[in-house]
Amino acid sequence: IARANQLSSVRLSPRSVCDLELLATGGFSPLDRFMGRCDYLRVIGEMRLADGAIFPIPVTLPVGETDGLQIGREVALRSPKNELLAVMLVEEIYEWDRMQEAAEVYRTTDSRHPLVAEMASWGRFYISGPLRVLSLPKHYDFPELRHTPQQVRALLVRLGRANVVAFQTRNPMHRAHEELTRRAAQAVDGTLLIHPSVGLTNPGDVDHYTRVRSYKALVERYYDPRRTLLSLLPLAMRMAGPRSALWHAIIRRNYGANYLIVGRDHASPGRNAKGEPFYGPYEAQQLCSRFSEEIGVRILCYADMVYLPAEDRYEERHRVPRSAKSLALSGTEARERYLACGRPLPAWFTRPEVMRELARAYPPKHQRGFCIWLTGLPSAGKSTIADVIAVKLVEHGRRVTLLDGDVVRTHLSKGLDFSREGRDTNVLRIGFVASEVVRHNGAVICAAISPYQATRDRVRLMIGEESFIVVFVNTPLEVCERRDVKGIYARARASQIKGVTGIDAPYEPPADPDLVLDTCQDSPEECAQKVIELLRERGFLRN
Ligand code: ADP
Ligand code: ADP
Repeated sequence: IARANQLSSVRLSPRSVCDLELLATGGFSPLDRFMGRCDYLRVIGEMRLADGAIFPIPVTLPVGETDGLQIGREVALRSPKNELLAVMLVEEIYEWDRMQEAAEVYRTTDSRHPLVAEMASWGRFYISGPLRVLSLPKHYDFPELRHTPQQVRALLVRLGRANVVAFQTRNPMHRAHEELTRRAAQAVDGTLLIHPSVGLTNPGDVDHYTRVRSYKALVERYYDPRRTLLSLLPLAMRMAGPRSALWHAIIRRNYGANYLIVGRDHASPGRNAKGEPFYGPYEAQQLCSRFSEEIGVRILCYADMVYLPAEDRYEERHRVPRSAKSLALSGTEARERYLACGRPLPAWFTRPEVMRELARAYPPKHQRGFCIWLTGLPSAGKSTIADVIAVKLVEHGRRVTLLDGDVVRTHLSKGLDFSREGRDTNVLRIGFVASEVVRHNGAVICAAISPYQATRDRVRLMIGEESFIVVFVNTPLEVCERRDVKGIYARARASQIKGVTGIDAPYEPPADPDLVLDTCQDSPEECAQKVIELLRERGFLRN
């Protein structure tokens, strides 16, 4: 350790910390290091490591700059909190291509895909080399449910069944999932390994504390302890649909499972900018089944489970006769139609223990936080409208935080310039503060030019899709220039300043705003009123 402290170091992102842990414990076996170039290229192109072993997801370590890094020298890998985790002997430093990785692994370059969006913030280089792990990342939450692959295998042996069925999840488990897992374990007379991912999951997912409390309650009350094991997997998910599913199977093999349950839409992120799903609902099952033999994990494929009220039981959708009445709820519907309105979830859908945890995490919508994000050219009217909205919300009895780009630049973002980088930093700082406010169920209004779609998309991810409302203040440039509240257009025309949005710096109008305001036609009060109405429609304000 003393020697490692002399080395130059790389600060890992939370994602890379998760990856490091699974590399170190054998969760990613046969991979034991962040990928070098040969492995990387073959993995993104053919889903195989350089030696031919199947491995569908790149596990790489991005770095921003290469100062202090040298081939043949060691580098210390540190956690975001600066704890020393490992030492890498650097063997390779190579550039990677974000669009190529996005297109090959995720099959899209749409920044609505959470990984495609996140990759924009990764460094330009990947580094690789053998690792010496000095201390595994510490987890203070649920220590009794955290096990290495070796420990899980030992626990499974003690349960004494030859077959082990793993269940991957990033969501609360409802009765349909319970049914699915119980059936799967019975079908092969196996032990059930409930193995939720608790590293990074899809932004906007139910937080893992809530989920784990509910898994624990379920396992204690509703599963057979002689054939069930609950263990937490510190996996940073990639949401790559079929490729992710295959990866999940390989990881579970390393933990001692020989079966994996794959339902519909496995590891699917939401929808793309056109509103279409990124992957077909059964593609994951097809891909996994194709490689099942090679990886040594059989796939138990299930369609949707639906509830038959007449018989009080669950059945797969395609086995239900057309004439029979069946019920189903999606996770989104459960949140929007029940929890958001303060209604209890139906007993056929969810166990009361799970319901209680979810109700705690999801108060009714009018008590929840949201972020109004006003974007538009300078002098479009963002600050003016934001002020009116803020007053209206306070009048309604909400607590409001106003983050005005200009004002933020006088303290939080003091000294940042108007280059693309300076603007992105400013917008991401605003986004960060806004996400904290929203997380604590406050209302926040942000008014910043925020000219770049990709940056706004990153803010959307920080805040969460449902709580992020983009309002495009669509005032034509001529009008903005005539208003010129701060005189910046005049100074731009006189060539006194450079890089003014709309004149010699770009403005990318939002691709999919929640609301577009026309300040030439409507007064500031009318514009603000439209926003208030939208908040009402979405349930954030009580009528
Ligand atoms: P931004 O924050 O977008 O740079 P400001 O709100 O500071 O813009 O300035 C907009 C200017 O336009 C203000 O002087 C405001 O009075 C004027 N204005 C005229 N009509 C409207 C409208 N309908 N909505 C907002 N601002 C308007
Ligand atoms: P951004 O979203 O680009 O960070 P902000 O809303 O934080 O924008 O701040 C923009 C404000 O900064 C403008 O209202 C304007 O007064 C001032 N400003 C100074 N120079 C420039 C410039 N080159 N381009 C745009 N705005 C500028």
